[in-house]
Amino acid sequence: MTERKREPGIGTRAVWGAEEGVTWQGATQVPVVHSVTFGFDDLDEWLDVGSGRTRGHIYSRNTNPTVEVFEEKMRLLEGAGAATSFATGMAAISNTLFALLAPGKRVVSIRDTYGGTSRIFLEFLPKFGVEVELCPTEDHEAIEAALQRGCDLLYLETPTNPTMKILDIERLARAGHAAGAVVVVDNTFATPVNQRPLELGADLVVHSATKFIGGHSDAMGGVLCGREDLVGEVFRFREINGATLAPPVAYFLIRSLKTLELRVLRQNENALGLARFLRKHAAVDKVFHPGLEDDPGHAVARRQMSGFGGLVSFSLPGEMKDVGRFLGRLRYAHRAASLGSVGTLIGPPAVTSHVELTAEARAELGIPETLIRCSVGIENLDDLIADFDQALG
Ligand SMILES: *Cc1c(COP(=O)(O)O)cnc(C)c1O
Repeated sequence: MTERKREPGIGTRAVWGAEEGVTWQGATQVPVVHSVTFGFDDLDEWLDVGSGRTRGHIYSRNTNPTVEVFEEKMRLLEGAGAATSFATGMAAISNTLFALLAPGKRVVSIRDTYGGTSRIFLEFLPKFGVEVELCPTEDHEAIEAALQRGCDLLYLETPTNPTMKILDIERLARAGHAAGAVVVVDNTFATPVNQRPLELGADLVVHSATKFIGGHSDAMGGVLCGREDLVGEVFRFREINGATLAPPVAYFLIRSLKTLELRVLRQNENALGLARFLRKHAAVDKVFHPGLEDDPGHAVARRQMSGFGGLVSFSLPGEMKDVGRFLGRLRYAHRAASLGSVGTLIGPPAVTSHVELTAEARAELGIPETLIRCSVGIENLDDLIADFDQALG
């Protein structure tokens, strides 16, 4: 009998991946290398590293041993050829777009991308002569038609913020490649525990590591994983513009990755449980969560995700002051922007992520004025349900 080589699972990769040979003097944890610069006694060796012929570190704006461990762990989790990191998620996204695009190029994307990303599409890329077409988010035919009009870069995000719309990555990646486009997916909401876009045909995956990857609302970062040539091109831009992840933050992210699977599995379970509870509650209007059987994205989500993620959005039948009253009564939730933390975070998009839009523009995106987005933490589900129940009462 021959023994087949098995790939280690996500949890094992997150704990052990990329750590071999980097610890020091028997230490069990990755050292934080604060050094800005790295010295060489041998001029030939210096030249080899400096010219990229051999791997090594020269200056921490470019590469750093601690930062490299974080990148390598993310590469293993996404099943990518290469990975590089950034100071924030927006740095990962803007570096990717500005490094891969040029005047005259054309981007196809969706209306519901993260607020900062849509600002780049609507305000900054057009300034540099890049054409951007943003399609109605769930309209796969409209996206395919836009791709047929020509496309250099297809940019997707799924599930979307804040109404949890689901895009079929496999179908759209195929259409994107047929048009000759590079396919990029923002995987922040799903994490590699729930969804691996590269296996579904995408070329690149971006993350705000500030969210589930960091998982504790105490560190900001970004990461890009995917095809080696493309990641290399973006890295060459990042090492010059300097949106580099700092080594102590990289250590926080390495530590957080070790519990990523545990946290995300619990958050999946809590979010689905809370969504089901809200769905039955008389004081709740609509509930948006891809795990609900009658959610419009459910069938595709079931196929391409192994869990539905830690976010639930819902609307109340009243007006904004009712939302305020409900939020004020919650005991186990921070009323704050952001998501992916171990503690439940809650806020209305009308005052957080979509505050800059008019009520009409929000309505056009299908965002009710009384919508509340909830990033469910790792608390005990019974306590969350009891808390939401008393606050809705
Ligand atoms: C937060 C977020 C970003 C931006 O990340 P930062 O770390 O805040 O710069 C990008 N995409 C999605 C989906 C996000 O939720």
